[in-house]
Amino acid sequence: MKKKTFNFHRRQFLKATGAASAVLGGTGIGLFGIRSGKDPMTYSGTESLQGMTQNFNRSKYEVDTPTYKKVGETSRIDARTEVIFARMPRFGQQWDDEKGLDSLDPILKKYYQDHPEDLELDLHLRKEIFPKMRQDKKKYGDEFILAEAWSNAMGAVWPRGYNKPPEETDFPHPKYGRKQPLELESPEMTAKLIKKMGHEFGSTLVGICKLNPEWVYKHPMRGRGFDTEAPLDVPSHWEYAIVVGTPMEWDAFYANPNYGTSHDSYAKSRIVAYRMAAFIKELGYAARAHTPGTDYDLVVPPILIDAGIGEQGRHSVVITPELGSNFRPAIITTNIPMAVDKPIDFGVQDFCKTCKICAEQCPSGAITMGDKENIKGYKRYALNVSKCHNFWYSNLGNIGCRLCVAVCPYSRKSNWLHKTALQVTANDPTGITHSTLTEMQKRFYPAPDVKDYYIPSLGGKNASYRKPPWWLRTRDFIKLKKEQS
Ligand code: SF4
Ligand code: SF4
Repeated sequence: MKKKTFNFHRRQFLKATGAASAVLGGTGIGLFGIRSGKDPMTYSGTESLQGMTQNFNRSKYEVDTPTYKKVGETSRIDARTEVIFARMPRFGQQWDDEKGLDSLDPILKKYYQDHPEDLELDLHLRKEIFPKMRQDKKKYGDEFILAEAWSNAMGAVWPRGYNKPPEETDFPHPKYGRKQPLELESPEMTAKLIKKMGHEFGSTLVGICKLNPEWVYKHPMRGRGFDTEAPLDVPSHWEYAIVVGTPMEWDAFYANPNYGTSHDSYAKSRIVAYRMAAFIKELGYAARAHTPGTDYDLVVPPILIDAGIGEQGRHSVVITPELGSNFRPAIITTNIPMAVDKPIDFGVQDFCKTCKICAEQCPSGAITMGDKENIKGYKRYALNVSKCHNFWYSNLGNIGCRLCVAVCPYSRKSNWLHKTALQVTANDPTGITHSTLTEMQKRFYPAPDVKDYYIPSLGGKNASYRKPPWWLRTRDFIKLKKEQS
């Protein structure tokens, strides 16, 4: 990774101190920033979850009766015959030209006797349209390769065969899939396409890098087609890694540890990754999704760093400029040739040296207050995973914690104050602004005493970092039994 060197130029100093004064310019600005942070317009990457897409004022147009009109006797639909997607497969399997209606089961036969016009149309589809469509598809269909690949990928949200060996599961289907990889215009154009598709598939973040085999587990996690007792040989087709990532719902995540859930964006990123793998296979290349819930064969944070998604923070989670560390990633290993991204350095390493908010507010003491150490040959902050894991079971709400992610100053919603602070820290070679911003963060986002996060029988108060969002306040919606209240 490129090492950032800070030469102390006068111009940079003025820029940094000027920015620092601007930030110091007042508590009022900070408070205004918090207020605007509550504005739904600042949700990054989850805008549609906040109902911001459904923005038509319906209440103005409410009426007392539905706009459909009952004009006679009604009957419920028989889906077996009246729904064309059920009728056509049934018809296709049974129809025989010589036997005609007698080739059909009694239900279908009766339906066509009652609806001869549908029999005519269904036969026309079978005898005329289908054969001609297949014939023309051979001639002109290539025009739509990408459209078809995109559509099939969009539907590929169920991780079929994810636990099979790579040589079986990573390649296009031997029977139905493309036999040869398509010839691609250039690695740059492919990278551009893959990134656009990543966003289309629902990802907020997309990055690409060469896969460093050092990041692949020495022994597999739980199998996934590998022999767990044998060392994992890195398949030769795992040449590249595509990183995708989606944010966790902001309000529940801020109220951690009792209210947030990682499943939220785990599931979204999983869907994106399986869509991406399906898309790449549609083009004839190999692809394997490594996702939360269906397991990874590799260690994720360094791959995120290689792909230019962000930098690893003191809390060990990768911090991105867009979402801070409020996101969950998934990775797709592949052999489709692509131009790769470069790592980024936007000041996190320097900021984390002095900030330490995550370490101070981690209830389990899992995050070090000290300097980076040599861990498996790399200099990084230590994390006591077992202490962290124990705390996951020391609160009453959703499993897990995520507090270090919630309290990190980089994990703020996308308001103007946050954007300004990000620019200031990224462009401050002196570090002068860092302590100011850390202090502002502590002042504007006060936290409970760390002991209080624990459950009462472990000496805590079952506290949360911030108030739960209105839609997770149980008592407002559920009448609790007496013993619970
Ligand atoms: S998830 Fe919670 S317990 Fe684990 S390191 Fe972060 S703050 Fe500490
Ligand atoms: S809370 Fe501070 S020290 Fe911890 S990861 Fe975030 S910026 Fe770094």
